[in-house]
Amino acid sequence: MKKHNFNPGPAIFPISVLQEASQAILDFNGTGLSILEISHRGSEFTAIMDETISLTKDLLGLTDDHHVLFTTGGASTQFFMLAQNLLNTQDTAAYTDTGTWANKAIKEAKAFANIKVIASSKDKNYSFIPKDLSALPAESRFLHLTSNNTIFGTQLHDWPDVPVPIVSDMSSDIFSRPIPIEKFGLIYAGAQKNLGPSGVTMVIIRKDMVRTDLTHHLPPMLDYKTFIAENSLYNTPPVFSIYGSMLTLRWIKNLGGLDAMQKINEAKAKLLYDEIDANPYFKGTVAVEDRSLMNVCFVCDQEELENEFAVDAKNAGCVNLKGHRSVGGFRASIYNAMPIESVQVLVDTMREFARRKG
Ligand code: PMP
Repeated sequence: MKKHNFNPGPAIFPISVLQEASQAILDFNGTGLSILEISHRGSEFTAIMDETISLTKDLLGLTDDHHVLFTTGGASTQFFMLAQNLLNTQDTAAYTDTGTWANKAIKEAKAFANIKVIASSKDKNYSFIPKDLSALPAESRFLHLTSNNTIFGTQLHDWPDVPVPIVSDMSSDIFSRPIPIEKFGLIYAGAQKNLGPSGVTMVIIRKDMVRTDLTHHLPPMLDYKTFIAENSLYNTPPVFSIYGSMLTLRWIKNLGGLDAMQKINEAKAKLLYDEIDANPYFKGTVAVEDRSLMNVCFVCDQEELENEFAVDAKNAGCVNLKGHRSVGGFRASIYNAMPIESVQVLVDTMREFARRKG
């Protein structure tokens, strides 16, 4: 039986994407070759790359002012790569500290340049998104924001108006909603939640962010200019991950694009948060206005009941619901590909649990 997979990442795929990808592993488009066997320099892969970029531009409303790049090393590599590409060591950049991943981004950038942490929710275990960004230094080259905090279950719902470009880690909510693209200088995301198979990282960079005046050396594999000049083909790219991303982006486009995706995500999240709020045995862990539509964190009102509910959920086919150790309880990751029917199964299980206890 196919499970209801609430894993935070690698995460659930649309079933139609899995079907098409599995066929392509055996025979890609009647070529007599597996997608795993085709040349990354051949016409088949060129078409895949072109379509993935054009779907990205189309869905996000990018202009010719943007490059869409595919790197490896995950979002974790971007933590230092973006700092070393966007900053000289004496430059300043501002960051907000909204969770584990934001912290890692800060740490890597601090090792390299002058980084100011202008807001933090650390004192409340990252249960909200700090809104006061008035400490932003005038000389900042950018403001780094983590759009969705995968571990703590908070999400930025209003992009701030700031006088500098926003650089955003969108690993866990890219393509889940429309974004005001004009505010961003750089966006990056590991593929494995909303985009495709793990192994590829998408980087969208506005052309004017690419520095030609860096005073330090960058190895070619860490230099955005290499990826730009070689269309992300300087070395062998993760062909299958890019192909899987293309299929997922097609699926989003066929659903009606990001406006439609957002409505579906809102409906799923509402179903689950409404149950958390109504059910006396559960409670949410973050500020209501900052609740993530992607990662829904909740605990049992009585902690000792958590193991029992975990068994019920497992018996209902709901897997990978365990909360991160820094929050505890449960985390239901309900990314784009999660069907509302699976969320309903979880909600029904919560209701049945309350009925049995009550
Ligand atoms: N940023 C966020 C918001 C994440 O959720 C993750 C992974 N869970 C990362 C960064 C790290 O990504 P990667 O594993 O691709 O390095």
